Amino acid sequence: MDNSDGARSALIVGAGIAGLTTACALARRGWLVEVIETGAEGAAAGWGLSLTGPSLRALDGLGLADQCLATGYGMSVITNVDANGVANPIELPRLIGQDRPAMAGIARPELHRILRTEALRLGARIHYGLSVSHLDHGDGQARAELTDATVRTVDLLVGADGIRSVVRDLIGRPTPIRYHGQMVWRALVPRPDWATSIHTFVGTGHQTGVVPISPSQAYVFLTENEVRPDVLPDADLAPRMGDLLAPFSGRVAEIRPQVARSDSVIRRPVQTAFVDTSWSDGTSIVIGDAAHAPSPQMASGAALAIEDGLVLAQELDRCQDTRKALEAFMDRRRERCAVLVKTSVAIAGLEQEQRHRDSYPLIEACHQRMALPA
Ligand SMILES: Cc1cc2nc3c(=O)[nH]c(=O)nc-3n(C[C@H](O)[C@H](O)[C@H](O)COP(=O)(O)OP(=O)(O)OC[C@H]3O[C@@H](n4cnc5c(N)ncnc54)[C@H](O)[C@@H]3O)c2cc1C
Repeated sequence: MDNSDGARSALIVGAGIAGLTTACALARRGWLVEVIETGAEGAAAGWGLSLTGPSLRALDGLGLADQCLATGYGMSVITNVDANGVANPIELPRLIGQDRPAMAGIARPELHRILRTEALRLGARIHYGLSVSHLDHGDGQARAELTDATVRTVDLLVGADGIRSVVRDLIGRPTPIRYHGQMVWRALVPRPDWATSIHTFVGTGHQTGVVPISPSQAYVFLTENEVRPDVLPDADLAPRMGDLLAPFSGRVAEIRPQVARSDSVIRRPVQTAFVDTSWSDGTSIVIGDAAHAPSPQMASGAALAIEDGLVLAQELDRCQDTRKALEAFMDRRRERCAVLVKTSVAIAGLEQEQRHRDSYPLIEACHQRMALPA
């Protein structure tokens, strides 16, 4: 990277939500930014994502909330339908102003496209099919050997490489990944007319729900309890998810045939990870799921990832000493992220004990905590 004009340089490992957000936030502040991504361009899985209020607020800090709202589906109510079919709508707090929705559903590839386009527009360079094989540091810089045998020496290396982070291991923070006994399902379906906001449905054994992600599309989610984390053949996914929805009546029964023939169904284990020690070695740092991966129950892992990118850039702006800035970043982020991971684990346990009502106060308290500034 040519930093002859004195600009600071960053190498970001992982072009996911945390990595691309960090690329935007740093490039906007004049950093020379290079991103390396092991996958292919545009390979983000095609399922939907809920952008909660804190996600939208952080995206607004990057000037991208309105694009996400225009591409996705804005909403301000969650309707919880209990086992007797009684609907309980809850108005969500609007963190980016009363004139804009409280949250949005969006297709994951669309969010990636918006972030990638902005990062490139701001001058970041993104390389696909590339990773890091070795890392060391000295003289206040990180030195990374990449898998194409090239070397980068930068002021900051950011490991935004997800729950199975290689950077985490390379900086000496091996961290267990815990499985919590649940598998989560997502299926893309045409948006039913009544799905103008998130709907959740409690059934006998499993939970399901519908999230609109555009005027024409929605995703159906389902959490399967007490199951081994085995891998099913792709061809079995849609019919199997259809079977799991069979005990539900009403609106779920109405959308079940579309799920059973959806050609976009994914099934993922509910896993978490949290780096208990420092997330940094002084010049490299792990962020996003690489540092703190919650289970999907609170639909807030992306919120933490986006906030991380923004807060990291703010702290590096405030302090030229990278080590001190990274410490300030961790001070701001650690407790908030720990609360979210712990709450998501607790909810996964309560769901499997069929104690849904006991989880509601935890969810409420965690949302209130997340509504506080990042
Ligand atoms: C089924 C499911 C549903 C979810 N739903 C929601 C939701 O509705 N709302 C929400 O807020 N959160 C949700 N989450 C959580 C959210 O997806 C994550 O918290 C978020 O994606 C974390 O972003 P990240 O950038 O840290 O990691 P990732 O999104 O995992 O991105 C990591 C990137 O790094 C790349 N990479 C990995 N290893 C390397 C390497 N060695 N070198 C280079 N690149 C590498 C990967 O290919 C990937 O592109 C959900 C999670 C799951 C599993």
